[in-house]
Amino acid sequence: MTTLSPSDKALVPFVSVDNMMRLIHHIGVEPMLVGLADYIEQDFRRWELFDKTPRVASHSAEGVIELMPTSDGEVYGFKYVNGHPRNTRDGLQTVTAFGLLADVSTGYPVLLSEMTMLTALRTAATSGLVAKYLAPKGADTMAMIGNGAQSEFQSLAMKALCGISAVRLYDTDRAASEKAARNLAGSGLAITICDTPEESIEGAQIITTCTADKQYATILTDNMVGSGVHINAIGGDCPGKTELAPAILHRSEIFVEYPPQTRIEGEIQQLGADHPVTELWRVMSGQAPGRRSPGQITLFDSVGFAIEDFSALRYVRDRIHGTGYHFDLDLLADPDDPRDLFGMLMRATPATR
Ligand code: NAD
Repeated sequence: MTTLSPSDKALVPFVSVDNMMRLIHHIGVEPMLVGLADYIEQDFRRWELFDKTPRVASHSAEGVIELMPTSDGEVYGFKYVNGHPRNTRDGLQTVTAFGLLADVSTGYPVLLSEMTMLTALRTAATSGLVAKYLAPKGADTMAMIGNGAQSEFQSLAMKALCGISAVRLYDTDRAASEKAARNLAGSGLAITICDTPEESIEGAQIITTCTADKQYATILTDNMVGSGVHINAIGGDCPGKTELAPAILHRSEIFVEYPPQTRIEGEIQQLGADHPVTELWRVMSGQAPGRRSPGQITLFDSVGFAIEDFSALRYVRDRIHGTGYHFDLDLLADPDDPRDLFGMLMRATPATR
């Protein structure tokens, strides 16, 4: 084919996995977690501006494929993401993703990016940001239950954003804990691998559950959770997929991203539809209190919301300028005369061999 060069306005910056990793190394993992948390907090504070909808999910016996759209009126974004707990058996990731930002005024995409790495970072940044508001003062130790792909990011975000200095790892598969311990060696965190979940929560003021199993699991039972802790529940994020015993929910002050989505997907799917929850954007914009007393159990029932992905894509768009960590995709047809799409096709004649 003889191809015609597209004009600059039709080229879409694309951040591949390789370039995302270069960008993360260029910025540094912890500074990037802090930067992402800042963008997420900015967007949570202007929450009411956004177009919001629970994500569009297509469920199967093996997992789920989801689309997560939102817009602030000027920029539109969406993420494609899957969740397939059995994938790791075949050497595949449980969660993979990519996402796009577009200019609302023209509808033209302005960024296409890998989001598997970025989702791990944005999920962790959100956890760290939320814990800043909810974890008990002086929290220095986190239990990390479920030591898969998200776990190192979660640990580093709690260090960078909340100041923890120790992580106690537990996973039903010890090899996962050993992998996490290896990856976190040199991070400045004191790492302990534990034999039971009970052992992992000894002395921990923050408990993160981040397991993957498509069922109502009970990772934490009621008697394991003492007063005053902050629970960062990451893994229960789908209908029929939870991690906490319902009794824990009844003892906790529950904080959520977007109630219409969390009631379908989060730990609170186990509760009545009118059980009170606090929306995090209200806490971040000063309209609702975060932790109110040292003895209170706070629970972040995290499911991951589209605005966090939007913030993360916004951050990447702002940070790739001048780095060269992207290349331009010829994604949009760009005829010289916008109404002559067919003519453009005809001019792109097959090359003579
Ligand atoms: P992963 O498959 O890489 O890791 C999950 C780990 O959990 C594995 O090491 C597994 O051995 C361990 N595990 C399973 N059952 C356990 C149990 N009973 N006790 C202790 N460990 C157990 O998955 P991942 O990518 O790390 O994701 C973890 C979970 O987080 C998934 O359920 C995923 O859907 C969810 N997630 C949530 C968000 C969010 O925004 N809330 C974002 C990304 C991922």
